[in-house]
Amino acid sequence: MTCRIEIKGLSKGEHRFESKIDGSFFEAYENDTIADADLDVVAVVNKGEGRIGLELRIDGDVTVRCDRCLADLVLPVAIECPFSVQFSSYVEEDDEQIGEDVIVMDRNQGDLDISQLIYDYVNLHLPLKKVHPEGKCDPDMMEKMKDILK
Ligand SMILES: [Zn+2]
Repeated sequence: MTCRIEIKGLSKGEHRFESKIDGSFFEAYENDTIADADLDVVAVVNKGEGRIGLELRIDGDVTVRCDRCLADLVLPVAIECPFSVQFSSYVEEDDEQIGEDVIVMDRNQGDLDISQLIYDYVNLHLPLKKVHPEGKCDPDMMEKMKDILK
């Protein structure tokens, strides 16, 4: 899986990059929350005159542990976020693209690693309370929990 986009070498116009992410991606970050993942990542780079737009879409699901019964809980993920990419020497104080996150790249850096972005945004979008809907918890696990708590 490649999460590197060779921004500098791209020609003007729209470029689409697709990638698949599984549990090993989060394992590499030593993430304890996400046990497994099946995500499609689409990054669309729009290189215009003096401006580079990056739209990141992450769709699929992640498997976490239910806070109540500790069994697997599959959560859907649907994230869409636009970014504006700027090279450090071109960063201006008054940015007209308000509401967008700006990624500042070093001028000497040609490629952008979007792994960290993907990681951060997926984690950011996880609900605070990770539990199965009422009555949908694993009954066996609930029994075991009761024994442990005795
Ligand atoms: Zn549960």
